[in-house]
Amino acid sequence: MAGKNRIEMTATLRELINPGLNPKRPIFTKPLLPPAVGEKVFSLTPEEIRKIRELRGAVVDLHPGMGGVAPESIIRMIQDGAKITSLDFMITKGCNFECTWCFAESGPLMKEYLPFNILERLTAEGLESGVQLFVLTGGEPLMYRDPALGKQGTRGIHFFRIVEMIRETAARMGTPTKILTFDDVALITPEIAERFAEFEVGLCTKGDTLNAELQEYKVNQSGAFRKIQEGYRNLMNAGYGRDQKLRLVVNSVLDHTTFDGMIDLHLWVMENGFDHSIVPVHYCGNAEDEDQEAGIHSPHVKVLYDLLARIDSKYFELDWTPWSAFTYNKSCNRNRSGLHIRASGDVTACSESPDRTATDRYTFGNVFDDGFSLKSLAGSERLARYRTEFAEGHGTYVCSPDVCDLYANDLCQGGCATRSAYSKIDTESGLIIKNDNHHNYSEKREDPLCPAWTVLAERQNVLRQGLLESIHQRLLAKTARIEAVDFPYQV
Ligand code: SF4
Ligand code: SF4
Repeated sequence: MAGKNRIEMTATLRELINPGLNPKRPIFTKPLLPPAVGEKVFSLTPEEIRKIRELRGAVVDLHPGMGGVAPESIIRMIQDGAKITSLDFMITKGCNFECTWCFAESGPLMKEYLPFNILERLTAEGLESGVQLFVLTGGEPLMYRDPALGKQGTRGIHFFRIVEMIRETAARMGTPTKILTFDDVALITPEIAERFAEFEVGLCTKGDTLNAELQEYKVNQSGAFRKIQEGYRNLMNAGYGRDQKLRLVVNSVLDHTTFDGMIDLHLWVMENGFDHSIVPVHYCGNAEDEDQEAGIHSPHVKVLYDLLARIDSKYFELDWTPWSAFTYNKSCNRNRSGLHIRASGDVTACSESPDRTATDRYTFGNVFDDGFSLKSLAGSERLARYRTEFAEGHGTYVCSPDVCDLYANDLCQGGCATRSAYSKIDTESGLIIKNDNHHNYSEKREDPLCPAWTVLAERQNVLRQGLLESIHQRLLAKTARIEAVDFPYQV
């Protein structure tokens, strides 16, 4: 972790962060083999494909990496000539929190930011290149401050200058645009919530657990849970969760500590009218050296999503069948036509693609360099070559158009590329382990936390007997909100 840990380590907390989810016991009883020629891991009917498309296109898709719209819309935009369809600005590295899994190594002492005048230039060039979705990230975006804009007074003023600038630039150029911001919610006052609503900013917010002690450990700050809950109340009072124009997706990182509480959190999210994005952990940034074998694995993701889908159907009239590594099969679109600009100025494949310290392959320039032009980069051979490399960079076991119908139908491009870059499946044991070949971000890409591995292992009869049922029973034992009798284990 970047900063000094300020959270007192109580016995309960020690238990929460070491829940004994997986004692590193092998998941497979024999080595897993690649599927035979012609064999599919995920074989979907046209009706099943139609249902995924319908759900993904139903609302502005704010789940991380999705680019705001369903993949077929992005493909259409590219065919119509767009060179970039979504653009992230990591406007500041400063953050009020210091999360244990922060990919950006952000924190209260971090100072890097993207100056407003550069953001103005990039916004105009982005719009000229086809951008229809701007994503503001950090750090914590509300911490954004550019001294060139004068004294801030109230927190958030400089952030909203960016929102206004993007809206005005887009209106001037006659381009439809949406703005999404990531936010940890703890700084959202009633006034800030009203301004978000006024500008109809889509929000992708923090919410990893309803356990206050655990949440505070995860963000390394006492009192954080109360502040986050207060922020949510302010957002609800401003209309988020009720008004269809005000989209809010709660983004939960799923790891061995948050797993046990995910059902109760999901119910809270859905009951408040929000969307729920669950992101299985990426072992990069602050989490790079964690013991992956002791963490969550493909069977945990599969069992959790299967249960959530049953809960959604029973209580929220929402029908979906889980296949991919993301809730609602909302798999990542970023590398079709998105770009990310870090607070350092580096233009990268995505927020978490391996940086220059690991490889040059996923960094396409730096906005602070003399002569840098986003428009030229957007139309460059280099970017076109990279995107072809990515599109062709599928794997062999599960993430390939030959074996996965989500891939074959443009619904998934190998899940989260970052997870492939930092983790891989040990095909002998079935556990995920550290991957030092960061080029698996774009080549031979396979998402190690996709439920597909479990499906393939079951089919080859190498999955440890009773494992799925024991995970299911564990989840039921840990929830205070649903009755086990209503959700018996189903094979
Ligand atoms: S992560 Fe891979 S196996 Fe899973 S749905 Fe996506 S392409 Fe298919
Ligand atoms: S590759 Fe992973 S980390 Fe990168 S945008 Fe997609 S989901 Fe997010």
